[in-house]
Amino acid sequence: MKQLFISLFLSATIYCGLAGQKLPLSYYLPEINYQSDIPTPEAFFGFQIGDWHLSHDQLLSYLKHISSLSARAKWVEHGRTYEGRPLVHLVITSEQNNKNLEALRLKHVSNTNPDLSAKLDLEEVPLVFYLGNSIHGNEASGFNAGPLVAYYMLAGKSQSIDKFLDKCILIFDPSLNPDGAQRFSTWANMHKNSNLTSDNQDREYSESWPGGRSNHYWFDLNRDWLSMAHPESRGRISIFHHWKPNVLTDHHEMGTNATFFFMPGVPSRVNPNTPKKNQQLTAKIAQYHVKALDKIGSLYYSEEGYDDFYYGKGSTFPDANGCVGILFEQASSRGHLQQSENGLLTFPFTIRNQVTTALSSLEAASDLRIELLEHQRAFFQDARKEAALDNRKAIVFGDKYDPARVNHFIEILRRQQIKVHHLAKPLMVEGKSFEPSSSFVIPMEQDQYKLILGAFQVLNQFEDSIFYDISTWTLPHAFNLSYQYIPKLSFEKGILGKEVTGLTPDAEPIAAAAKSGYAYLMEWDNYYAPKALYHIQKAGIRTKVFREGMTLGDKNYQPGTIMIPVQGQDLTPDQIHAVISEASKKSNVVIVPVSTGYTAKGIDLGSNGLVTLEIPKVAIIVGEGTTSSTVGEAWHLLDHRYGMVVSKIEANRISRSDLSKYTVIVLGGGSYQALGNGGAQQIKEFVQGGGTLIGIQNAINWLKSQNLVSVSFREVPDVDKKRRPYGAMTDDLFSLEIPGTIFEADLDISHPLGFGYRNNKIPVFRDGDLLLEPSKNVYATPLIYTSSPLLSGYLPRKFNGKMGGTAGIIVGSSGAGKIIMMADNPNFREHWFGTNKLFANAIFFPKAINNMGTEPAPRAGNE
Ligand SMILES: [Zn+2]
Repeated sequence: MKQLFISLFLSATIYCGLAGQKLPLSYYLPEINYQSDIPTPEAFFGFQIGDWHLSHDQLLSYLKHISSLSARAKWVEHGRTYEGRPLVHLVITSEQNNKNLEALRLKHVSNTNPDLSAKLDLEEVPLVFYLGNSIHGNEASGFNAGPLVAYYMLAGKSQSIDKFLDKCILIFDPSLNPDGAQRFSTWANMHKNSNLTSDNQDREYSESWPGGRSNHYWFDLNRDWLSMAHPESRGRISIFHHWKPNVLTDHHEMGTNATFFFMPGVPSRVNPNTPKKNQQLTAKIAQYHVKALDKIGSLYYSEEGYDDFYYGKGSTFPDANGCVGILFEQASSRGHLQQSENGLLTFPFTIRNQVTTALSSLEAASDLRIELLEHQRAFFQDARKEAALDNRKAIVFGDKYDPARVNHFIEILRRQQIKVHHLAKPLMVEGKSFEPSSSFVIPMEQDQYKLILGAFQVLNQFEDSIFYDISTWTLPHAFNLSYQYIPKLSFEKGILGKEVTGLTPDAEPIAAAAKSGYAYLMEWDNYYAPKALYHIQKAGIRTKVFREGMTLGDKNYQPGTIMIPVQGQDLTPDQIHAVISEASKKSNVVIVPVSTGYTAKGIDLGSNGLVTLEIPKVAIIVGEGTTSSTVGEAWHLLDHRYGMVVSKIEANRISRSDLSKYTVIVLGGGSYQALGNGGAQQIKEFVQGGGTLIGIQNAINWLKSQNLVSVSFREVPDVDKKRRPYGAMTDDLFSLEIPGTIFEADLDISHPLGFGYRNNKIPVFRDGDLLLEPSKNVYATPLIYTSSPLLSGYLPRKFNGKMGGTAGIIVGSSGAGKIIMMADNPNFREHWFGTNKLFANAIFFPKAINNMGTEPAPRAGNE
């Protein structure tokens, strides 16, 4: 492909930095011959790429059109976003290969199966390349480079293209985040001036909250490759495992004043599970980018800033799968043109760098095909050998009381092609017992051994103390599941029951509750119990909650059990039964009819000890000054998982809003400056009038600043006050923060916020360093960090011995209302299923918390 860049160099000198200049195709693409029956992007759109930001619809219409004209491409829809946009990829290879695609795919995939791969002639095996653009929707250069790359691959006539198409298959994923991209393109186009301005203060360059980075629920999809909470990720991972690519490129943007980054990242920050060969191949491929970017005169850097540590990211996840993941980061023009420290940064220039490195990556993969295939083959062969030598033969996990949480966990494993079996007989490992009816086993000796290690990884030693993202993600902790490795000595094949073949275990559907003329009971353990409760409440049915345990017949019920009386309701017994059946069916939660109010032990059903619940009417404060990811997580949980109606109110409109419509207001995180005095006053009145405020993480700072809560922060002084080299400053500063670490906390399961939990030790995720002293009221700290709480991840030295005994949750009050402070985000990245119930409890049960058990606001707050 060398000759391709000669003319490119000439056009670079002419066009680079000329804003508003009409650009020829040769600015972007090599001047080779192209098939005339396939339209260029410019011919199709009526403007050149880079003149406008393509919408997702435009992008797809072009790709659909050219793929219908070319025998080199197949158009495949692999999912839909929340907003109903198609998730699409093109399979691009030679016409001949496309006729024989499934056979080639099977041959390729057999390279990941050690039983078959040893006999494969790699000359015959196609390499698979996955190219993914703009998972962050407002990082538009990759997205807009897509039509050019596709045009080049479908219409281009050259030896190097033929060489690639003959031996390789390109999975071309033009938009990893369609909803975000659509949002951003609208913003950038609607603010474009006819006479471009490079003034970064122009509205074009300051996207309104929440921006186009995230998906519909404001989630950062580039943190979701392992746990797949969203449809975009599930679709993407299904293609990934269907094709088992050898190289995956992940095209992003960074700050306007930067240049261009390509991997390898920081050498000391590679996940310890990633084989050395992976980084060697990354470095070899990098030499192709070096050559290509040198030729067009673009500045770049490598081996600093970004890392290959967290398997939830697009450029690192492939590394745990025998693939080589490569991150590209282009300085962003955000809109069409910006002044930067490196001169005028035009949108076309950013697109050209993406096109150039996409092509250099394709050329590298084509040249290094055999070596990349050998790496993939060795990766899975080595995994099998290492698994055989591993003293841990299996992992057993389960939860007796909550099949929903277990099923969600199994679903992740299954989507990652990890084999899971039912447990065949009762098992006791290291003092923990597991029952066949509720437990499962993952045998270690399987093809996805390395990914199992990655997903279950407990990290406590680090070569480096700086993390681009979080320092740990141990999945069973996120799900609060009891789990244990089974060592060789206690392992026998007989414990492996039937293999789970679907995404979740086959289970009998929940039997519909028989009709009761007296009452129904629902335990609170199930992950979806809040969904069922809300469904019942929405029908106008009165519900109550047991604050203590009781025994009815021969069954023990825990605190948090919901009681639905039949008498005294607006609905008839038949109507109530219909609602109960529907709630149970929709949420897959058991609800049982009872015919007596008399309990064998504990309070009876008619006791004053039960608290009458009210349907939660929830408002989430969003907009400028709030953290879109954390408020989005709360929104997703309530709206998408629990099926609740929630309102999202702009912070700057609170002062003019009628808050009496709500029972609960969620401050999911942020500075809340935009509330102003008027908004703050409204919120104070809301609480004092009996409303519930939930403040998460740094929202607690705002609550304190408003005198709404009495809480003191534990100060953690820096360890070293000695003179340090100036050059060490950046590293020193980074290593002062808790970068995303898992701790153990003690939960008071007799407290309404602890309802639905059976074990008082739970893992919590911490990504900030707000240390709260426990409340002076001894009943008001339902969640507290244990004395040496570190479970997994990095803990900066200055926090050693400081975390233990700090509060995870404190319940405050002001007037007639409650203020629930959560030091950690219970909805972290929407796969912390284990702590979601804490948040649900704060929404559903504030009335069950006696005011005597709260820490009142300082007096000044009541004035
Ligand atoms: Zn990005």
